[in-house]
Order: sequence, then structure tokens, then C-alpha cells
Amino acid sequence: MTEIWQNALHELKEKVSAHTWETWFKTISVIQIEAGVAELEVSDDFIKAWIEDNYLDLIGEALQTVTDRKWKVSLRARGASAQNDDVAVDLSSNRVAARQSRSTEPLDQRDIFVSPRLDWRERALESGMNPKYTFDEFVVGGSNQFVHAACSAVAANPATVYNPLFIFGGVGLGKTHLLQAVGCEILRRDPTQRVLYLSSEAFMNQLITSLRNRDMNSFRMQFRNDCDVLLIDDIQFIGGKDSTQEEFFHTFNALHQAGKQIVMTSDRPPRELPGIEDRLASRFSWGLIADVQVPSVETRMAILEKKAEADGIPLAKDVALLIASAIRSNVRELEGTLIRLGAQASLTSTPLTVDFAKEMLRRMNIEDGRHVTIDRIIKLVASRFDIKPSDIKGARRSRDISIPRQIAMYLSRLHTEDSFPQIGRKFGGKDHTSVMAACRRMDQEITGRSDISEIIAELESQLR
Ligand code: ADP
Ligand code: MG
Repeated sequence: MTEIWQNALHELKEKVSAHTWETWFKTISVIQIEAGVAELEVSDDFIKAWIEDNYLDLIGEALQTVTDRKWKVSLRARGASAQNDDVAVDLSSNRVAARQSRSTEPLDQRDIFVSPRLDWRERALESGMNPKYTFDEFVVGGSNQFVHAACSAVAANPATVYNPLFIFGGVGLGKTHLLQAVGCEILRRDPTQRVLYLSSEAFMNQLITSLRNRDMNSFRMQFRNDCDVLLIDDIQFIGGKDSTQEEFFHTFNALHQAGKQIVMTSDRPPRELPGIEDRLASRFSWGLIADVQVPSVETRMAILEKKAEADGIPLAKDVALLIASAIRSNVRELEGTLIRLGAQASLTSTPLTVDFAKEMLRRMNIEDGRHVTIDRIIKLVASRFDIKPSDIKGARRSRDISIPRQIAMYLSRLHTEDSFPQIGRKFGGKDHTSVMAACRRMDQEITGRSDISEIIAELESQLR
């Protein structure tokens, strides 16, 4: 009797994904299999309803295959677990819409009970994502409002609004976070969705392995058939990798035609990606392109405060402002600095005050940021011309000193937020008119494409 069921299970295993099998079939037990009637038991009403709605025919067919006769399959929920007061299953939409019936409060999305067996967080982990990267954890400000809205829209209506969605922007600005937030949100709404998250490098590596093992079928199966949502991080890496692009091109087409959502991130917009074929770049632009910009100081503070709260780091406003002012262009660095400061304060039992934070930042060599400062510019230019920083700040006007000085003033004006008078002061107390004159002069050099303009370009690339 159980042998029939074991054989049927074996059949089923071939027909559904491993995940579906684990989730739904493995837990079924047999009450009776006799005379064309199979009575099966599962642990609760929810699973019973789900299987009845989705897999009853499949089970019948499997039984028929292994016994060569027709079966009537019935399911039972174990014990008296039928008190489904707080769970309503809306099977017509193939989704679970459950609510806390006694509560009159608005339904909190996070509290939707789906199934203990199909937790979206577990599904997120299986999909290659970090369940912490959710929209809830993402701070929205002017710099990311648009891309955040685009991501939310896609997560709420996969493959209907923007397909593909292409996100681009600088390092550490939250692209990966947003990409995974889309995946997490889709799974939270419907944990049966098959979401695949991976970097384009991982895509390439899997491709190489599959080619080596002559197993392209399962590679294509995985990406083209067994996938409802494809999230590809850092697509720029496939630039110049011809066979990866070729394969990705077909994956993209197959998914897009099948009405599956694709979201990608990149460090730059599609048309500026080096080594990417035109046909791919044009497809990347089919849907919506949204960029993540550098957050304002207010947003940086809000991110710090959110992170501090999550990690239990006591963070005063003035300390948040200090850190947010020191680290401007990378949220990852912002968070990393906060965690280091928090750890230092806690290890040395020192309160995280502005003075403490200043001292730590100085030691961590960030002071006013590892960003461009006038001092850094002066040092850089001095070493390029093999003179001393004090020469640049000094008063000598010989050409071998005055040209580097003017270059340094020009770069300071361009790459720091200091005004002409401030720059003058930091160059050993010079008048703002000399700074202005230096900038005019260098502008002319640049437009004239002289040797000096080349030196300036070289210095600028070192500054970044
Ligand atoms: P990118 O992929 O653009 O290099 P990440 O998504 O990896 O950047 O973000 C770096 C870190 O900064 C992550 O820990 C992420 O959670 C955090 N982060 C970035 N932007 C935000 C934001 N707006 N709100 C909250 N955390 C953010
Ligand atoms: Mg990233």
C-alpha cells in the first residue's frame, strides 16, 4: 500500500521543482490506498486547500502511472487544526490572502500569515538574496525617490509596468539593496514566485561550468523556464564577454517573451556600457532606466540613524551630522564608519560624543573625508612637480613654482566646495583675486589643450 505511494512520490518528484516537492509532497502521509481510492493526510487545512487546488490532478496522474488504474484522491487535515479563525485562504487568485480577523486595525503587510512552510525570508535566501534588503530598510530621499518608486511599482506588478527595469549609479549607493528589495517584496506577496538573484559574474561562472559539464540544458532550464523574476546585479561585467552576452541575450528574450520580469543594475546607463553589444544595450532600454544618485546630507543622516537604531548604537544628532558630513558619496562607507565608531565606543566604554567621533575619524584618516581637500590637492601637485607643499603655499613667483600653484588653485576650485577667498587663505593667505586669476589662466590652458591641460587631467584622475 505505501509502496504505491512511494512510487507515486517518485513520479511526482520528476514533475515538479525540488522546492515544490519539499514544500508540499514530502509531508503528505497515507491513510489508505485501496480499491482506487487514495486517502491522504496533511498537517493542516491550509496545506490541504493548497494541494487540492493545485496538485490534486498531478497526484492522481502519478498514482495512475505507477498502478495503471484510475484513482480518486482525497485529502484530510490532521487532527482538529481546522480553527482557521485568523487565516483565510483565497485560492481563486492562487494567492494566500490571510488576515487577522479579530483585528480592526489596518492590515499590516508584514503580518500577513502565509504558511510556516513557505516563509518569504527562506525563499529569499534560496533565491540568493539577503532578506534584510527590503523596502522597509531603505531610506528614501531626493537622490533615490524615483528609482525607489520604480522598484516598488515593479515589485507590486511584476512584468506589467516596466520590463526590464534598469538601475544604474555609483558604488555603494544602494543598487543591490533596491534590486533585492524588489525580489523580497515579490516573494513576500507571493512566496511561490520563482525569483533568481545573481550577479552577472555568477551568471557567467554558471554558464562556464555548464559548458564544461556539457549541461547547457539545465542551465537554460534554470534561467529560461524555471524563473519568474530574474534579478541581475552589476550587468556591466559581461562587457566584452561575448559568449556570456550571447547566452544572456537569449535568456533575456525568452523571459521577456514569456512575460517574466527582469531587473538589472549597472554602474552606468546601457548606452555607456563598454563592450556591450548594441542589441543588448537596446533591450536594456526597452523598459525604464532609473538612476541612484548621491544622497544629500539629510538623507545620509537619516540612513545613519536608521542603521544605528537597528544595530543598537546610541547616536546623537551632532555625531550623525559629523559622520554624514565626512562621508559623502558612499553609503556602504557611511555604514561601515558608524559600525566602527560604535564598536570603538563600546569596547572602550566611551560615550559616542562628537569629540570622540572626531578623533576616531581623524585616526581612520577620514577627517573631512578621504574626499578631495585642498591639502590633498597641494600635496599631490607638489609631488607631481617635485617641489614642496610649502613652496606652493609660499610667495615665490618663479615659473617652476607659480604654474603648480595655479594648477593646485584651479583643482581646488573645481573639486572642493571652498570659495575663492577660502582657497586663497589655505594657500598661505593669498588674495582671492589671485585665485580667480589662476583659474582663468588654467581654463585657457585647458581649452588650448596644452601640456598643462594633460597634466591637469592626469592629476584629476589621481584625485578621484
Ligand atoms: P551598491 O550595490 O549600489 O554598490 P549597496 O546596495 O550594496 O550599494 O548598498 C551599500 C550599503 O548601503 C548596503 O548595506 C545598503 O543597505 C546601504 N544603503 C544604501 N542606500 C541606502 C538607503 N537609501 N537606505 C538604507 N540603506 C542604504
Ligand atoms: Mg551592488
